[in-house]
Amino acid sequence: MQLADCTWTDVEGAETSLAVLPVGSTEQHGPHAPLGTDTLAAEAVAEAGADAVDRDVVVAPSISIGVSEEHRAFAGSLWVSEDTFRASVRETIESLAHHGFDRVVVVNGHGGNVPALREVCARISRDGDAYAVPFTWFDAVDPDDVEMGHAGPLETALLEHVAPELIDAEAKETAGEDAADRWGEWDGSVNLAYDTNEFSDNGVVGDPADGDAALGEQLLDTAADALAALLERVAERD
Ligand SMILES: [Zn+2]
Repeated sequence: MQLADCTWTDVEGAETSLAVLPVGSTEQHGPHAPLGTDTLAAEAVAEAGADAVDRDVVVAPSISIGVSEEHRAFAGSLWVSEDTFRASVRETIESLAHHGFDRVVVVNGHGGNVPALREVCARISRDGDAYAVPFTWFDAVDPDDVEMGHAGPLETALLEHVAPELIDAEAKETAGEDAADRWGEWDGSVNLAYDTNEFSDNGVVGDPADGDAALGEQLLDTAADALAALLERVAERD
């Protein structure tokens, strides 16, 4: 059940403790993919995972501004500090738990959110307010020969499947030319760069032309199955 589409009287009758909270970002995804890519991906995976499990799952509205300051050189990218982000996730989960939805999987679409999510979910769980665990969709998929990158083949393919009208097909074909091969600027094990524009001219890492909608469909199915299995486990866990 999509919380935002329900009336309070619908929610009052809900007999489940399970919820998913999609978390993304509003940040550049190259010249071909929308700023909302990470949020749209998190929402698509959260909905598909909730549908695939044989239990009622509350789908919370997404948190769409994340830890993305590394993209500040590119127009339209928004960010909050890790403190603000953690507080927002924490208080949203606490309010879900107030209504009895106290087993929460945070479905994440942005790499920069990962350390803060792990920390805040541990804090909430240790404090006993709810049990919360983060699930980052692209960690659950591992297609052969395709690197994650940023706005690269995987994310672009997923978006081409769930929101094809938001992908600029022409820009996608050439985006790889100004892209970086890998994330960061490395000296041995040290990443010298803090911001994306230090190593990528157009904000892209990898070649988005290596993915398509068919790959996106596969990725969504794989991520949704992994999320459904996780939800089952979280529902049963003591
Ligand atoms: Zn992304």
